[in-house]
Amino acid sequence: MRSEAANRRKNMQPVRVPQISPISLISLLYALSLFMFYRQGFITGLTFAGVAAVVLCIVALFYAMFRFGVNTRFEEPSLMLPQLVSALLVMLVVAYLERATQIALAPFILIAFSFGIFRLSTISLILLAAGCLAAYFGIILIRGHAEGYDQAFRADMMQWFVLVLTLPGMILLGKQIHNLRQLLRATRYQLEHYEEKSVRDELTGLYNRRQIQAELDRAKMQADTLGTPFTICIIDIDRFKEINDNNGHLTGDIILKEFARVARDSIRDTDMLGRYGGDEFMQILPDTDLKGAVMHAERLRVYAHFLDFQKVLESRHISLSIGVAQYRRGEKLTDLIARADAALYQAKQGGRNRVEWTEAA
Ligand code: GH3
Ligand code: MG
Repeated sequence: MRSEAANRRKNMQPVRVPQISPISLISLLYALSLFMFYRQGFITGLTFAGVAAVVLCIVALFYAMFRFGVNTRFEEPSLMLPQLVSALLVMLVVAYLERATQIALAPFILIAFSFGIFRLSTISLILLAAGCLAAYFGIILIRGHAEGYDQAFRADMMQWFVLVLTLPGMILLGKQIHNLRQLLRATRYQLEHYEEKSVRDELTGLYNRRQIQAELDRAKMQADTLGTPFTICIIDIDRFKEINDNNGHLTGDIILKEFARVARDSIRDTDMLGRYGGDEFMQILPDTDLKGAVMHAERLRVYAHFLDFQKVLESRHISLSIGVAQYRRGEKLTDLIARADAALYQAKQGGRNRVEWTEAA
């Protein structure tokens, strides 16, 4: 019952919760700041209500686009540019209509740009910043022209000038963070690649001896705590030295590689196969008792025997000797390996091309 429930849970699609984009959040925050301007008597209730309605419409529009997947039809599905442009336009229009709100303009522009940095190209950002600064400058000039180039006009110019100085800095800093993130991603990818390489045998691509040891430790711990059986097979290619001597080391390598490929494809997903050294391999079979493991080993032996190496090997075929041993609860791993080794020795002594085992207990 429990495993059925677990399976159902595993097969369930994750619930996708559509989220409000960061730029929409900034627009909402901006509307909230306007509410404070209204409460303090700097702007009229009508202006605040109008701006809040426009902001809500824009937020709802983008939310709906993300919710119904319309954004995926665009080249840039984050819709960062249209979102940013609409947010900046609202802020600039309000700053034009209500001079008192101008104090909120610079910080909100900076924070809006800081989100754009991660999605927009440098050229788009520069053009957008230039457009935004030009529009802001235009607003100040138009107002100055209408109301006179007085002290207030100079204060506006100072605000604009501070933004001119800080916005490029913000873009530069953001780009650096963006580059660092990319570098981090590339480094993580490389690290994963090296981690994967460090557990693999170079020639065959199978797990190496170190990883076999780690898997053995894991299997032992599981068997000791849960009481489930596990079994190991030591697989050795018969008379491999002769193959090398008669056909060359390179042919030996081809055979090792081909055998590894076929063996890897023939084992169960839960089993683990590694190269123990030279022409010797180890298979770990979790949740498998001796009888089951001998059956698997026998199948692998027959499978390998039917591999056709006609192109590289005069004798065409190889054979395997396999020693099998089931873990005895509490025993040392070295003892388990020694028992599998003894079984392998028995198989060699018995004429090779066979599977032998030591009794489970
Ligand atoms: P047996 O049937 O008793 O197992 O005989 P064998 O000749 O297979 O036994 P032995 O362990 O003496 O030979 C293993 C050979 O595998 C010796 C070594 O030169 C060769 N060998 C080890 N590593 C490699 C490798 O990476 N490539 C190749 N081509 N040969 C290797
Ligand atoms: Mg051998």
